[in-house]
Amino acid sequence: MPSHTENTGSLAIVGLGPGKREYMTARALKAIASAEYVLGHSMYLEPLEPLLNGKTVISSSMGKEVDRAQQAIDLAKTHAVAIVSGGDAGVYGMASIVLEVLEHDGAEIKVEVIPGITAANAAASRVGSPLSGDFAVISLSDLLTPLEIIEKRLDAIFSLGIPVVLYNPKSRGRPHNFALAVEHARKHLGKETPIGIVKNALREHEETIITTLGEIEEHIPAIDMHTTVIIGGSESRIWRRGDDVKGIITPRGYHRKYIY
Ligand code: SAH
Repeated sequence: MPSHTENTGSLAIVGLGPGKREYMTARALKAIASAEYVLGHSMYLEPLEPLLNGKTVISSSMGKEVDRAQQAIDLAKTHAVAIVSGGDAGVYGMASIVLEVLEHDGAEIKVEVIPGITAANAAASRVGSPLSGDFAVISLSDLLTPLEIIEKRLDAIFSLGIPVVLYNPKSRGRPHNFALAVEHARKHLGKETPIGIVKNALREHEETIITTLGEIEEHIPAIDMHTTVIIGGSESRIWRRGDDVKGIITPRGYHRKYIY
């Protein structure tokens, strides 16, 4: 008798949050604690190391997501498996590819998607309250989405005047996409529009810059693949105390109803 029968396993698709342990959910910690196998990109697995004792850890590199998803599903037919993503697994993460491969595989496996703090929330929290109402999120990576579509979407969302969060703003493979986003923003927003640049939000080596659309050029070298950029909307403003920049505020609209 094998110790496991078909499909007695489980699959947790776990969002790890931005990086520091205290920003992980209790549910994510529990799913990792009860997993026999943990799969993910090595960048996300390294900080988890103390939690991985006694587990089989399968780390792989970027670009191997489909293989990793299939491997997780095959293992989850008979074992408790956790597959991890940074931030939220459902936001530019592993959740969709794992579910697509599972849909195709047809296996009956217990699956749970465990949410995590996504980069938009992590970055916003470090620069005040820039995303207080409606906002949009877009990735500048043209690895899986053609650049023409990204540009169409940039133009459309900046035209709404709501804050826009840029994921994957720059990497070696696509150094010019950020400049394109700035061009689209400038068609619709004034040069005083606040911008928050947050590198490594809520993890080691965090860096924060608050600037404006008019002065963004000088900060472009600071933007890399570990950075999230928040471009404010038409109502966003910089909160100052004297000469000090305290943060970015996008009012929710209380001033239209109350006096304070
Ligand atoms: N699933 C992840 C996003 C993966 S896409 C999430 O929900 O956060 C990768 C991009 O996310 C990076 O290029 C960067 O723009 C952003 N990102 C992820 N973690 C970040 C962090 N701690 N600080 C700043 N940006 C981050």
